[in-house]
Amino acid sequence: MTVLVTGGAGYIGSHTVLYLKQKGLDVVVYDNLLTGHRGAVQGVPLIEGDLHDEEQLKSVFDSYSIDAVVHFAASSLVGESVQDPLKYYDNNVAGTLSLLKQMIAHDVKKIVFSSTAATYGEPQSIPIKESDQTAPTNPYGETKLAIEKMFKWSEAAYGLKSISLRYFNAAGADPDGTIGEDHKPESHLIPIILQVALGQRDHISIFGNDYPTEDGTCIRDYIHVMDLAQAHYLALKKLEETNESGIYNLGNGQGFSVRQVINACRRVTGKEIKAIESPRRSGDPAELIATSEKAEKELGWQPVYTELDKIVEHAWAWHSHHPNGYEEE
Ligand code: UDP
Repeated sequence: MTVLVTGGAGYIGSHTVLYLKQKGLDVVVYDNLLTGHRGAVQGVPLIEGDLHDEEQLKSVFDSYSIDAVVHFAASSLVGESVQDPLKYYDNNVAGTLSLLKQMIAHDVKKIVFSSTAATYGEPQSIPIKESDQTAPTNPYGETKLAIEKMFKWSEAAYGLKSISLRYFNAAGADPDGTIGEDHKPESHLIPIILQVALGQRDHISIFGNDYPTEDGTCIRDYIHVMDLAQAHYLALKKLEETNESGIYNLGNGQGFSVRQVINACRRVTGKEIKAIESPRRSGDPAELIATSEKAEKELGWQPVYTELDKIVEHAWAWHSHHPNGYEEE
């Protein structure tokens, strides 16, 4: 099976490429390298290109006998999406439109999609189920939801089969330490805390200490990036075997507060890690926890690295050996 992975040089994309390769699939990566890294893609073809470039996309589908697509390529910063929503409609919605046109034209009708918990917006109840209301509170979530809907209508019209995976908080790194997370600028909690441990930042700001949670800080569902990668493989297998579309949450099923995450980082790194209580960040819900029962039941997904300390340990192995990310390579 040959799989085209768009955005395969990014954080979750590159870990999925590694996993698919380990499972013996043939992989071709398509990435514009605006946020992805050449060094994150090893041992498979990497085509530098943008989804908007229909000619180049066409030539990829003409050159390789693609059986299915795993689609990560997107802009993915919530704050930026509020500042510049049209960038998100352009990169995410229009980019996917261009991809789907080429897929249908080349009779490729299976896609696994990198969706997000941000499609739900403020949760109605915890844990969040796939059947819960979707009411995104930012353009990032809105564009991902719009793409899920493009798939639904494309199934009715062209027979496109899709599996959308709604991730909660991706974290950790390849346990073998070959690839990891490298965002510039970094905005995610665990890598920022680890930058403090590395002496690259003075402190971590705790965004809000008066949420209605046990310790007053926000609770999130941190899921190991290799467990996400496993789910993409299982989704491809399911599409291959059953040809059935679906939408699945991917989370740990456990929530950890910002303070718990900081303490886990202190335990793993052995560093003090200064934390400063700061105002809330706008748009942060108090608690986001998924139930992934549907993925476990229907995809046979079994997350392996569910302990917070294990997730942080793998992230720390990457960050401590690659303090400047992929830059040095
Ligand atoms: N957070 C924080 N300080 C930071 C970055 C994040 O307190 O410097 C909090 C943030 O408010 C949220 C949690 O950590 O409650 C996870 O944030 P992240 O940006 O990693 O992921 P999100 O949940 O926004 O997708």
